[in-house]
Amino acid sequence: MVEQKINSSWQNILIQIKNWARINSPWAIHFNSGSCNGCDIQILATLTPRYDVERFGIKLQGSPRHADVLICTGPVTMQARDALLRTYEQMPEPKFVIAVGSCGLSGGVFHGCYNIVGGINELLPVDVFVPGCPPRPEGIIYGVAVLLEAMKSGKRPEPVQWSGEGFEGMVHTGSTMEERND
Ligand code: SF4
Repeated sequence: MVEQKINSSWQNILIQIKNWARINSPWAIHFNSGSCNGCDIQILATLTPRYDVERFGIKLQGSPRHADVLICTGPVTMQARDALLRTYEQMPEPKFVIAVGSCGLSGGVFHGCYNIVGGINELLPVDVFVPGCPPRPEGIIYGVAVLLEAMKSGKRPEPVQWSGEGFEGMVHTGSTMEERND
């Protein structure tokens, strides 16, 4: 009985350390599922010294197996669909998705094209949408901040209606941790 209690408190401590590390150093992978590159350039701009997101521990890296957050741009094209799914499946749990740009929300200007599946949430459970064509780096950083804040509380971000004003425009699917972990 005492041994069980010690084991479970060790497990709790380990979980807390893992959460602390994840929140303070979220590693992200960037995937272009059919974007015109406008949104991708803004993501790169957030990494430049002017915005310098690495000071918050946010690191862009190449392997989905090491990523906590998938930052996805563009509508999902038929050609990119399988690769996007494969990338997402290779990420370890718990994993999070940020859709960047109007195309990621709905297909944007490409909506209805013969080769477009739709927005990113047609395929993946999106946690945060960052609207804009393209969104500014401040908007992308704000989207990441919303996600980190929600990770701290152990909940998915609450749905926020897009006001159409600046980078406060953030909408969200509203799925819970439990729904996502099913
Ligand atoms: S939202 Fe605008 S900038 Fe981003 S991929 Fe679509 S058309 Fe390009």
